Amino acid sequence: MIVAPVGRTTVTADDLRAWVRRCGDLVTEQARALTELDAAIGDADHGANLKRGMAAAVEALAASADMPDAVLRTLAMTLISRVGGASGVLYGTFFLSMADATRGRDSLDLRTLTDAIGAGVSGIARRGRAEAGEKTMLDAWYPALDALRASTDLVPALEKAAAAADAGRTATGPMLATKGRASYLGERSVGHIDPGAASTALLLRALAEVMGGRAS
Ligand code: ADP
Ligand code: MG
Repeated sequence: MIVAPVGRTTVTADDLRAWVRRCGDLVTEQARALTELDAAIGDADHGANLKRGMAAAVEALAASADMPDAVLRTLAMTLISRVGGASGVLYGTFFLSMADATRGRDSLDLRTLTDAIGAGVSGIARRGRAEAGEKTMLDAWYPALDALRASTDLVPALEKAAAAADAGRTATGPMLATKGRASYLGERSVGHIDPGAASTALLLRALAEVMGGRAS
């Protein structure tokens, strides 16, 4: 009988550090594209800002051998201080809320991870006073969270969450922006993908790749 190899079932502090490294790679690769999205409906800084912040986070995490919540807290503080703009605060809030939700745990199984991401998404909504359908990063996070909640195994759950975030990113195109800088454009925001939703889709793709063994 051939038994299919069992994939990873928990996320460790090392995995979180690998996630941040992969985020850094993907954001660097896509920095120009993210900034172009922000040029259309914002101030053309999203790619460059996030690239700088992720690079600083990779550096800040390189030598540490901490618990998951400490990794998430360092990531949060680095993004808040180095990204700037709305997304620095919002991603910082996301990872701080994740850190609070995982305090004291050695590793995170799918349920713990899902609850922590749920806490992070609620943190973004609270801090940004935003909800679904306002053409923000939340429109990638919410479908990803729904996919995690509907799944039972970690790696397939992360694959589905990444695909859902990507679909959420695409779905921001026809939306009218009612929060953040893009809302200043009113109807002219329609027809453009939201840069924050695009970077969120990259973050979730990075996590799926790392836990699926497709990135180190
Ligand atoms: P800034 O708009 O300050 O230049 P960035 O360009 O780094 O910041 O990030 C813009 C992204 O932040 C948007 O594409 C959107 O996804 C997200 N964003 C902005 N304001 C909000 C908000 N109030 N709630 C949720 N997300 C927001
Ligand atoms: Mg901007």
